[in-house]
Parts: sequence; structure tokens; C-alpha cells
Amino acid sequence: MGIVSRAELHLDVRTFRANVAAVRARIAPSDLMLVVKDDAYGHGLTWVVETAVEMGVPWIGAFDIATAVDARRVGGGSPRIFAWATSSDAEVDDALLHDIDLGVGSAEYLERVIARASAMGVRARVHLKIDTGLHRNGILPQDWADAVERARDAERAGALHLVGVWSHIAEASDAEDDDAQSVFLEAVRATGDSGPVPELLHLTASAASWWRPELRGSVSRIGAFCYGVRSADGPDLEGIRPVATLAAPVIRIDGDDAVIAIGSFDGLPSTLAGAPVGTPAGSRSIREIRPTETIVEGWPGAQIGDVVRVFGPGEQGEASATTLAERIDTVGEEIVTRLTGHVRRVVVD
Ligand SMILES: *Cc1c(COP(=O)(O)O)cnc(C)c1O
Repeated sequence: MGIVSRAELHLDVRTFRANVAAVRARIAPSDLMLVVKDDAYGHGLTWVVETAVEMGVPWIGAFDIATAVDARRVGGGSPRIFAWATSSDAEVDDALLHDIDLGVGSAEYLERVIARASAMGVRARVHLKIDTGLHRNGILPQDWADAVERARDAERAGALHLVGVWSHIAEASDAEDDDAQSVFLEAVRATGDSGPVPELLHLTASAASWWRPELRGSVSRIGAFCYGVRSADGPDLEGIRPVATLAAPVIRIDGDDAVIAIGSFDGLPSTLAGAPVGTPAGSRSIREIRPTETIVEGWPGAQIGDVVRVFGPGEQGEASATTLAERIDTVGEEIVTRLTGHVRRVVVD
């Protein structure tokens, strides 16, 4: 690569493919739902969905309907796409038009989805969400039977297909996750009282899908680990490497320091001062993060145009995004998604 004058986020397609393959091998026979919210965790939706579809990943998890429709445009007709944000009627219409599966976590949203599907003369594919303790959208256990009954009515009327039951868990402690699973399994059982048990049962995200096989359903919703972002305070993962490398060129030599073209205005938290970065001579510390540039401890022979890696897989002694995140009490996803559009995304294969 030639000399660059500003920071770039390099996205390695091969690493992404290898991560997806490692995740799928680990969770089989559970199917992977690749989560692509927040522009594929800041990695760029288009190449991520294209690559996943090429690899035959059966599910894309989009959070909101606009992202789901984008994923449908990019991915074509083959993947199933799941959107779980409670959405407006117009968005629901869009979802139904584009064959998007809907996550439904309230009686009110269920009514609206049924109404829109009836009006359009189609069957909505619905995954009902049980609240298993996180209290972030989800039907409460005491309201579950009524919601299922309502869904079954709509199924008989031809407006809905109850294809899934799902929930989201904290993945903070095993004991809490076990309790959540009990609530989830009770909801699945109760659903079976009034008709067939839906095929698609999903509860776990990256960490629990990887470490707690007994919690996995028929589908696992995974974002972070596919992008090579490990859990904060979690161990490294076999076969998983960071997909994104933040590379910034040296723009000035200032005494014993090298100045690189990235700053807090680009989305790099200034609190990361003191963190290690990867230089051509190995690991060096960040001295200071200014609005448009960062001062790095120099190395012998440092030159303008040398590339410093702020985070990445570690080939120049740089830390991963998660290791940086741990210094400032956040998660690796946040370090990548905070980077502004000023940081050019370069997909490398
Ligand atoms: C973001 C999200 C996931 C994926 O979580 P990771 O930890 O990135 O794998 C799964 N399910 C839901 C509901 C989410 O919001």
C-alpha cells in the first residue's frame, strides 16, 4: 500500500471468513445469525453481508428494519433476515414487502404487525420475545399465554406464522443466564400447548453461544466474535482474530516523538493516552491524543509515512480494540463503531 495521509480502517475479508467459519464450527448444529447492527459494528454492512451470503450463513440479524431491507438488497433472496426493533407501521410494511422476519416483544406491536399483514394480504413471520429478566422489550411471563393465543388466532386467519421464540440474556453471570433460560424454556413449553413448537429458538449472543453450549437454541445471534471482538475481560478465543485494523500514518517527527494522523475528532477517545500502539519497531505508548493528531513515543529511524497501528490483530505489537476498551471501561465494539466517517474504510481481501 502506498503512503496514506490520513487514518484508515482496514477490514480483512479473510479474517472475517475465518472467524465466521470458527464460530459456525463451534456452535453447530445451532445455526449462525450474523448480527449486522450499527453498520456491521462499524465494519461496513455491504461487504459483510455479501461475504456471509457467499459462505451460506443462513441468518442475518439486523436490529432495525431499514438495516434489514439494506441487507436484503445486498444479500438477495436467500438469507433469512431478522429485525427486532419495535417499528412504525410504514417500516413494518417495508419489512413484509422484503420478506423480513420480525421480532415482536409487546402485545401492542403484535397487534400492529397483524393489522399490517392483514391489510397487505401476507403472512408475517414472527418470533415472539419473552422477557427473561433483562426488561429491555419482551413479553412478560404473566402475559405470555395471551400473546401466544393472539398469535395463534392470527395464524388461523392467515396473517401470521409463529416461526420463533426468542429472548436476550445479560451474559454477565452464569447463574443469571441459567435463570433466564428457565423462563425461556417455560415460554417455549407453553407455546407448545396451543400448537407446534416454533422451529427457531434463540437466546444467546457471542459469549454464551461460545461458552455455554447448554444455552444455545437452534439459532445463535452473534456479532462481536465474528468481527473478532472478544468480550471485555474475556479470554482470547481459538481461531478468532480482529477483522479491523486502525492504521494511521506518521505526519511529523517531533523530537523523540512521532505524530500520527488520527485524533479525538475522528472518534478516538482521548482517554486512551498511555495505551500501546504498533509501530514498525514494535509496541510504543501513546503520549497524547489531540483533536486531529496523536503523539506517539518515537522509535529509531521513524519517518513520515510510516504506518502506526492503533489497534488490530497484533502483528506490529498493537493491542486489540477490546484491550484498548478495557483501559477505559468500555467494550471493543464501541472503539470501532465510534470512529467517524472521516476514517476511510478499506476492505482488503
Ligand atoms: C447486539 C445483539 C446481539 C449480538 O451480540 P454480540 O455480543 O455482539 O454477539 C444478539 N442479540 C441481540 C438482541 C443484540 O442486540
